[in-house]
Amino acid sequence: MTTTELKPRPRLPEWLRLKLPTSSAFTQTRSLLDELRLHTVCESAKCPNHWECWSKGTATFMIAGDRCTRACGFCAVSTAKPLALEVDEPARVAEATRRMKLKHVVITAVARDDLKDGGAEHFRQTIEKVRELNPGIVIEVLVPDFLDNDACIEIVLNANPHIYNHNLETVRRLTPEVRHRATYDRSLSVLKKAKAMRGDKVHTKSGIMLGLGEREEEVLQAMRDLRSSNCDILTLGQYLQPSLKHLPVMEFVTPEKFTEYKIRAEEMGFVHVASGPMVRSSYHADEFSLPVAG
Ligand code: SF4
Repeated sequence: MTTTELKPRPRLPEWLRLKLPTSSAFTQTRSLLDELRLHTVCESAKCPNHWECWSKGTATFMIAGDRCTRACGFCAVSTAKPLALEVDEPARVAEATRRMKLKHVVITAVARDDLKDGGAEHFRQTIEKVRELNPGIVIEVLVPDFLDNDACIEIVLNANPHIYNHNLETVRRLTPEVRHRATYDRSLSVLKKAKAMRGDKVHTKSGIMLGLGEREEEVLQAMRDLRSSNCDILTLGQYLQPSLKHLPVMEFVTPEKFTEYKIRAEEMGFVHVASGPMVRSSYHADEFSLPVAG
């Protein structure tokens, strides 16, 4: 899209207008992350829940740097040549988790297509360090597709995360436009493989953004495709355009429609569904209580 084609963003409907909380916890979270030199997807992806989550003392860590090798049309994370991995980053994430007293941690990363293992080993080390310093914690990873490489998926799973989350992001028809270097079938395959490799020892999870121009039947089909790939947990949220250079919002889906989708998803057999305008992959992630031990 050229600058001359940039259109102003539409006014947000009432249900998306946020009241910003004032809380000293927000500043404490900010200071802690700065001190430990950590990136979060909350900031890098301009998440609209940034104020709420940080004020509650939670955040989603983004490892392997803040420069992504991909340039998806919806995502605000910068695309640039990544820097070398920082070997002490896993320990710093573990320390932040400890100081924030998290009971459920969500760890994500930029896509590192420049690395032979896509950053899988770095994920493994981070999971292990976090567990070492925070016994009993629930660990959720939100991973890139690792180009559907079995060995990479297995490296991460070998560290026994409780939840293996990989987002489908959108329906099949819109995938080429929304996620340039990813494919719909590859993402389904990643989820299917994770479940096949670990069975009930891991919960698989995925998310779809709504409001990009998808039709209802396409959303339902994407949900069915996820269930056919043995995905356990689903998140549905409203896409919001992070800047005028990103894909425009085609529709603001109503809260009632989100509720309808939640009911349909539960009927399809997802064990947990979070569906609402402000839902993101990691929003209130700890509300799903795990029957998995260890
Ligand atoms: S929803 Fe997730 S990414 Fe957004 S602010 Fe909360 S923890 Fe961060």
